[in-house]
Parts: sequence; C-alpha cells; structure tokens
Amino acid sequence: MVKSLSSPIPAVSYYSVIASDPKLVSLFEYLVKEAKDVLLPVFDPRHGYIYADIIKCCNISPYESLELINKIVSLGLGTKEYHDQVLRCPYCGSEQIRVYFHCPFCNSTQLYKELLLEHIRDGVIGPISKFKDTSGTLVCPSCGSKLSIDGKDYRTVGVWYRCLTCYRQMDIPKITYLCRECGKEVTAHGLVISSVGRLIINKTALEEFSRQHLAIKPIVNMLRDAGYIINSPGSILGKSGISHSFDILGTDKTGNTIAIDIAVSKVPINESAIMNLFVKMLDASPTKTILVCIPSILESAKKLALLYGIIILEGTSISDIITPLKSIISSKMTTIAKS
Ligand SMILES: [Zn+2]
Ligand SMILES: [Zn+2]
Ligand SMILES: [Zn+2]
Repeated sequence: MVKSLSSPIPAVSYYSVIASDPKLVSLFEYLVKEAKDVLLPVFDPRHGYIYADIIKCCNISPYESLELINKIVSLGLGTKEYHDQVLRCPYCGSEQIRVYFHCPFCNSTQLYKELLLEHIRDGVIGPISKFKDTSGTLVCPSCGSKLSIDGKDYRTVGVWYRCLTCYRQMDIPKITYLCRECGKEVTAHGLVISSVGRLIINKTALEEFSRQHLAIKPIVNMLRDAGYIINSPGSILGKSGISHSFDILGTDKTGNTIAIDIAVSKVPINESAIMNLFVKMLDASPTKTILVCIPSILESAKKLALLYGIIILEGTSISDIITPLKSIISSKMTTIAKS
C-alpha cells in the first residue's frame, strides 16, 4: 500500500512532536494548567491583534508567536478558525487604520455634526440644538411641549454635518482612511479586508501531551531511579486468565508490583474510572494500584477509591504528581487488603 506523504501524524507521535520544541512544551504546559484548548487573539494598540497567552507563556515576540501558530497548524497540533475581520493598509499591511470624515466640497476635516430630531406628535423636524432650551431640556421648538421619552415623544430621524471651513451642509461626509504606520491615505476601495483567527488546539494532542509529559515520562523516570523495572504500557495476567494492561507497570527487586493508570479529562474524573480500574486490580492483584488524574477527580470518586484501596494522585504539574508518589513508594510496600 502506498502511504500518502500528507497523511496526518498518528496520535502516538504528537508528544514527540511537541517535546522537540521547548516553546511548544511551554505552551502545552500552560494549556493544561489553565484548562484551555482555544487561544483567542486580543487587540493590542501597538501591534494589532496578538496572541497574548502564547507571548506570555513562551516569552516570545508577537512576530514569533505568529510563527509558532503556523508551526502548530502545520504539525496538526491545532487548527485556525475565523475570529474577526481586520482591515489592513494596502501599502504596508498594517492594521493601524484611522478613519477621517471630510467635507465633500472642500475636503476639510473640520466638521460639525448634529442629530436631527422629530417631535412625533406634530412631525416637526430640526437639529437637536433647536430642541434644547436654556437648561438643556428637550422641548419642541414649534409647540413648546417637553419631550422626555426617546422613541415615544421624539425620535432621531437623521444626522447632519456642517463644514466649518466652507460652511456648507451635507448629510453624508466623504470618508477616507489613514494608515498610522506608513502615513498613506487609503480609500474604502483600497483597504485590504483580511481576518484574524482563533487557534483551536487538537484535543488528542493535548491529552497525549498531558499523559506523557505530566505523568508517564516523569513517573517512569522516577521509578527507574528508585530501582524498578518498568513496562509502559505493561500487563499482568490475572487470576481469571485475562491479561490486564496498565499505563505503567513497575516491579521492584522483591517482586512487588506497582500498577499505574493515567486519566486525563477536561472535567473532573468520575467514579467510572475507579470502577474500571478496580475490576482490573481485583483480577491482576498488583501490590499497589494508583490512578493519576489530570487535572482532578470528583470528591465522590475519591471516596470510592479509598474504599477500594486505589491511591489517587491529581494535579496539573509534574510536581503535583511526582512529589506525593515519591512518599508513596518510599513507604513500605504493603499488600492492599482484599476480601
Ligand atoms: Zn500603511
Ligand atoms: Zn411640537
Ligand atoms: Zn467644506
């Protein structure tokens, strides 16, 4: 079978792709910690739209953050979705566009704008200045009645401009755009319409990263340092004759076994993960059984784990998981009582 070169990266290698770039590791660590899988651009007055999360957690420039996003998309670690319209200068590409209103007769930008109001009952129309009495209250200039409720007593029927250079009136001024970056004037026809996207992180890649980076890799390293022989994944043949697989299986010199499963979920892990592990534990009988929950586990599920003799480790960082695990394995290996 001929393999296509453009075929997507299989899920198993997402972690090695992320691990090859420290910036990607920093970003994915941040995403797990903040429980985020979407990165939104925010408008910055100096740089236009920027990805503030990436700039902050990777400590890179706005330009480098765009390069990183392109890398994420090209590696299949995320996709871009339309987020907002961006108007750009056709000469320099800047997003720093200013709008100007001009007099269509003399091109002056010194304009005076007034709203045109209508007294609904008698249909009298005039500029808002003619509707204001000396105290600033709205009063009909024709019949003198007080106008208090917008939409009921009066309504805005339009807008009117006067040029303070040539004194002519207009209802539509001429509009031009000025690029603050290169200083060139642009018409509406000349403006470039582009867009900015939000970055949607590939959930499989994020879960794979959480499992490998926050749990499997540091746990395997720690257990090896403590003298364990590790299989990841590893399996134990149960009393029933069924083979049970665990994410990490460690055996020490005396033959004690430690079986560890990793559960990753955006919402706290529930009882069903405990039940599934309990069934395997009952049949395979490892010396110790541990469930690592990223980021967390429900209190009710934790109680059930305690009842079943399953040790729970939860957190969003390597230290959350490794520090308590060290004290667990340094404590004397005791077989968990089973009925
Ligand atoms: Zn420009
Ligand atoms: Zn009136
Ligand atoms: Zn004018």
